[in-house]
Amino acid sequence: MATKGLLLCVCEGTCPSFQSMDVFEVLNRLRRERVFDWVALHPQLCSDDGDVYLRELLKGTKLQRLYVAGCDPRMQGKLFRDPFEAAGFDRDKHAGVDIRNMDTGQAVAAIKQLVAETEGCGCGGEGNG
Ligand code: SF4
Repeated sequence: MATKGLLLCVCEGTCPSFQSMDVFEVLNRLRRERVFDWVALHPQLCSDDGDVYLRELLKGTKLQRLYVAGCDPRMQGKLFRDPFEAAGFDRDKHAGVDIRNMDTGQAVAAIKQLVAETEGCGCGGEGNG
């Protein structure tokens, strides 16, 4: 079975870009709707300990897709390149979405939209479904 996980990353939780959303409610809504097999919150994935976290999480994983909601997806790709490489994780399995400056509902909708577009599975997004 294809598994997919979501990491929410919030720039230490102090950045104004994330002040309008309730990050725990974002995760809880997605959990309740079973959009992902698992969800987690990390305060700063692009820090040194974030690198360690990603390496440990992804080493030998059978995860089919790692979703990261946080900053710009292109920036995520650059920031996570080293830990993905160190873990032997195919970077094509990463899908990112920018949820900065969104409220709780907007962030949930943007994440679901990304999943729908990526999986083409009708997971609740408004896209290809
Ligand atoms: S990975 Fe992106 S969202 Fe996460 S702390 Fe770094 S800049 Fe912020």
